[in-house]
Amino acid sequence: MTQESDHGRMPATQGSRIDAYVDRYAARATGMVASEIRALFSVASRPEVVSLAGGMPYVTALPLDVVGELVSDLVAKRGPVALQYGSGQGDPHLREQICEVMRLEGIESGPDDVVVTVGSQQALDLITRIFIDPGDVVLAEGPSYVGALGTFSAYQAKVVHIAMDDEGIIPESLAQTIYALQTAGSRIKFLYTVPTFQNPAGVTLSVARRRQVLEICQRAGILIIEDNPYGLLGFDGDPMRALRADNADGVVYLGSFSKTLAPGFRVGWALAPHAIREKLVLAMESAVLSHSSFTQLAVGQYLATQPWREQIKTFRELYRERRDALLDALEAVMPAGCTWTRPRGGFFVWMTLPEGLDSKAILPRAVSERVAFVPGTGFFTDGGGARHMRLSYCYPEPDRIREGVRRLARVIEQEMRLRDTFGTSSAPDHGGVDTPGPDLA
Ligand code: PMP
Repeated sequence: MTQESDHGRMPATQGSRIDAYVDRYAARATGMVASEIRALFSVASRPEVVSLAGGMPYVTALPLDVVGELVSDLVAKRGPVALQYGSGQGDPHLREQICEVMRLEGIESGPDDVVVTVGSQQALDLITRIFIDPGDVVLAEGPSYVGALGTFSAYQAKVVHIAMDDEGIIPESLAQTIYALQTAGSRIKFLYTVPTFQNPAGVTLSVARRRQVLEICQRAGILIIEDNPYGLLGFDGDPMRALRADNADGVVYLGSFSKTLAPGFRVGWALAPHAIREKLVLAMESAVLSHSSFTQLAVGQYLATQPWREQIKTFRELYRERRDALLDALEAVMPAGCTWTRPRGGFFVWMTLPEGLDSKAILPRAVSERVAFVPGTGFFTDGGGARHMRLSYCYPEPDRIREGVRRLARVIEQEMRLRDTFGTSSAPDHGGVDTPGPDLA
């Protein structure tokens, strides 16, 4: 029920109907849609369900007592600064420390070009806000990080996916897509890529392809947004050289302490060419005035006083053991016809189901069998991904991972029998970007 007011139709029962304001939202709000799988995940978070869905880092592996002392010391000794507003660009000392972290991936940079953000998610938001007008094109891997797709969709970008394989983006596909779009007069604003231990595919752009991707984008005048939260979490060898290490002018690099320390601090950053960096600071100020001084100083203090490289090694070993548990279990029990990627770092495995199976249709049955995953369609904006699912190994203990895979294999076998009997497993609707809850990202 509604009643008229001077300003047009006013809902009589504001707040009681979730669509009471629907005709007043800005056009961009239509791009902000919650995933229908969210409801299922509230069930999936029950303790009896093995969740291979969430991307939550295993923060329990941190020396929590040490972090606790550090935080309490910070308030006691530097409270007036830690509890005060800070600068829009971020704490200068932390920005120097960030440059030191990035040196591990071959990046030479100065603190003046770094902007500290509320996780790298905010850096993504600010970059998109600066560059995207409705209808502009963003190139992104297919599949791509769901949190980035949600941001692009909120700013009404048109995402065009670039095909990838086990070595990351396929350069020929990138070049052809750019050519076709530019010939058709589309405005491509940037390529968004997670080149190392990609979320969700778990694959890494090879060294040879890194060179090709940089060259193609440089020739076509396309900016690259390199999102690299997992780069230091490799299971063998030294960290990969970042794209940004070989092109300071054409790449905006996004980093984060969410996976190498803890996401609860919400400290990430952008390293950008100078002109973009200035815009980023202005966008940052308009969004939040300044980042939390408190968490920035806490992270700075952690880096200055704790063996953070050793801690990253601890994380790497822990995640490697879990990756092995997942891959071995998949090998042991998955029915023929299922294939999957073999990540050399990061959190995720991307599984492809046999023909005729649909991961979104399977999810409710999997949850009732007490195992959860993220269906592949959330990682595409074009309806792709139906035969895929993301399996994460970062959070559950190895035994739970093995149990989860056994349960999942049983569900998939059952689906295959259904397909063989009835011709298909049930086909759900695949519209829109599934905006995830943070634990799914
Ligand atoms: N980029 C990618 C590829 C991610 O996987 C995530 C988190 N899952 C983020 C960005 C955002 O991370 P944060 O904001 O915690 O730094």
